[in-house]
Amino acid sequence: MTIEELIGKNVIEESIKRIIEKDKTLNSVLRIEKIEGNKNGKYFGIPFLVKDNILVKGTKTTNASKILENYISPYTATAVEKLLQAGFSLVGKTNMDEFAMGNTNENSYFGPVRNPYDINRVSGGSSGGSAAAVSAGYVPFALGTDTGGSVRQPAAFCGVVGFKPSYGMISRYGVTSFASSLDQIGVLANSVKDVALVVETMKGKDDKDSTTLNHTTDLTDNLEIDLSKIKICIPKIVYDTELDASIRNSFYEAVNFLKQRGAKIEIIDIPELEYVVAVYYIIAPSEASSNLAKFDGVRYGLRSPSVGLSEMYRTTREIGLGIEVKRRIIMGTFNLSSDYYDKYYSKALKVRNVISRKLYDILNEYNAIMTPTSPSIPPRLGEKLSPLEYYLMDIFTIPANLAGLPAISIPFGFTKGLPFGIQLTGRQMKDEELLKISYTIH
Ligand code: GLN
Repeated sequence: MTIEELIGKNVIEESIKRIIEKDKTLNSVLRIEKIEGNKNGKYFGIPFLVKDNILVKGTKTTNASKILENYISPYTATAVEKLLQAGFSLVGKTNMDEFAMGNTNENSYFGPVRNPYDINRVSGGSSGGSAAAVSAGYVPFALGTDTGGSVRQPAAFCGVVGFKPSYGMISRYGVTSFASSLDQIGVLANSVKDVALVVETMKGKDDKDSTTLNHTTDLTDNLEIDLSKIKICIPKIVYDTELDASIRNSFYEAVNFLKQRGAKIEIIDIPELEYVVAVYYIIAPSEASSNLAKFDGVRYGLRSPSVGLSEMYRTTREIGLGIEVKRRIIMGTFNLSSDYYDKYYSKALKVRNVISRKLYDILNEYNAIMTPTSPSIPPRLGEKLSPLEYYLMDIFTIPANLAGLPAISIPFGFTKGLPFGIQLTGRQMKDEELLKISYTIH
């Protein structure tokens, strides 16, 4: 189901009915929330879903956390506001890893999301609910957020397109901050064209988010591109990383497919990529520990009945937050402590700069960088890998966030009966170019 096919139709009730009937198994939608869009908008009648870390006035925004279980949003995120203005109608909020920390959706207080292709496997995360819901055909598109891969990886696992625009393309006003220098709203949909259309609707400078930028090229314009004029590089690390054999084969197929279509493909060594996971897992938890300090029982959500201020803080966070969120807060607080700040946080920032500059240089020469979206197939539910094993699964998606680059996961057939996605990372604020390349190969 694509947006184009739905223009002029009203499928809001049908979409809600489908969610109620089908989602008991998948658990991808946390709540139905019906907010009709502008009746005069071009897209009136077309439903969408929003990840539960994005605010919609008067409705809950739980971040899939106990601490915000009953939190009501005081205003609406700019991105959602723009979609409603264009006529799209909200039908509900999607499940996610608690505070967007994770990549299997098993960190949700409301239980994991199941993969529509194999319900014994995870949907991916942290925007797993949005990915599974689009894949299951509830809505033509859903919003997610992507701090280190959370739109692209679940898109790959659930067989849909997942796009994270350049940092600054879409306002973060109304998005619960996880790691503000990395966070970006992204779109999950069935086609590249739909992704372009939705981002075009949401993008733009916003006085309420000083990191937003002006982008004037229409993302939906003339999506066809001549692939023989395109140069793509593959980082050598893809070949050095331990990949599932089936992932490797599917990736080779994608490379051959692109070559046959005339694209020039070269393998290059980017040794800096070896450090992306380490850098990300210092910077992201550090920012998170600061951003999440506000959930203290005083200003938002849950408050424990304990007597005494510090005891109330402590027990509120103890009962309100899940294990992975606590782990990140502890790691981040440690990194930012005066004794270790220089050794870890400040060093990670420097390495982030080195990595970013290297990627900008490479993208002066190549139009895009290509990798598999994920080094592995979707794990089984409850597989219980170590935290480090989960963190390493983000190796290919993290670089785009560190450098603020646009990146997309495009479905490319199946591997072991499960969807496989290739990732393309493009030039900063040249999202139109990346979307064109993606459109032409999807
Ligand atoms: N998997 C990464 C993490 O756990 C990325 C999450 C995200 O992009 N929100 O931090």
